[in-house]
Amino acid sequence: MTMVENIDWDSVEKASKKLTISRRIWLLKHVSGFAPTASKMVHRKEWDSDKCPRCQLEIEDVDHIMSCKNGTAYEQRLKGILTLKRWMQRNSTAPEIAECITLTLAAGPTAKFEEMVGTSSSTSKLRRMILDAAREQDELGWNNFCRGRISKRWKQAQHTYLEECRLLRKKTSNTWACNFLLHLYELIHEQWEHRNEEITKATKEKASASERNKIECDIRKQFELGIGTLRPSDHHYLNEGIENVLRKNIRAQKYWVRKCQVSREYTENTEKNMLVGMRNIMRSWATQPD
Ligand SMILES: [Zn+2]
Repeated sequence: MTMVENIDWDSVEKASKKLTISRRIWLLKHVSGFAPTASKMVHRKEWDSDKCPRCQLEIEDVDHIMSCKNGTAYEQRLKGILTLKRWMQRNSTAPEIAECITLTLAAGPTAKFEEMVGTSSSTSKLRRMILDAAREQDELGWNNFCRGRISKRWKQAQHTYLEECRLLRKKTSNTWACNFLLHLYELIHEQWEHRNEEITKATKEKASASERNKIECDIRKQFELGIGTLRPSDHHYLNEGIENVLRKNIRAQKYWVRKCQVSREYTENTEKNMLVGMRNIMRSWATQPD
């Protein structure tokens, strides 16, 4: 049997039918590796760097979204993993399955599902089935798990657990697997959203830094121009001293620059008007008949 056949495609299909259209499109891009990650953006020649915008350390591709080591990314991911764990606990998941998945997800891509199967109170049959599921998932890979490509054997082990607990009448392992995937997608999507928020924040910071630079240039220019073309009543703007003006908040600085500019425009216009007036007087004087 090839690896692809070990994937629980039935549940993948069922779960994807329950998603909203926008979420389904996102998922399709994510699992196919076409999501606009840094490496894809470089490929499209839209970004210069393929480094992860969150950690700045590793190349960002789809797999990196769920394994980024940036502090807030990790914190947020742990919260999501705990939410998934609580959902599993509330929904009659075999405790060993819930524990194994929670620990392996939290430990990251180098962790092995098999190693996280605890020694527990379950029957030997169930334990063997969980171990088989974990081993098969290790063959499929951690990254595939984080693309929703889960082994069919999880569902089979969960079925045995429900059977042993006499819960089969109320619950089915099919519904369990489908809902598990939906919660897993949520966890992955939250990471994607977190990553996008970080990019927006960084872009805003960059913009405000460039705005601060510009206003500082404008202030320095006013001091270079000096009081010469300021109206005498506005000289106090420069008398404040450059250090004091640079210490103001950006709103006050903008107001200060505008005041200086208006004052200079006023002086320039007055001088221009005076020249025009003088020229007119000279002209009429020159053409006066004697
Ligand atoms: Zn990263």
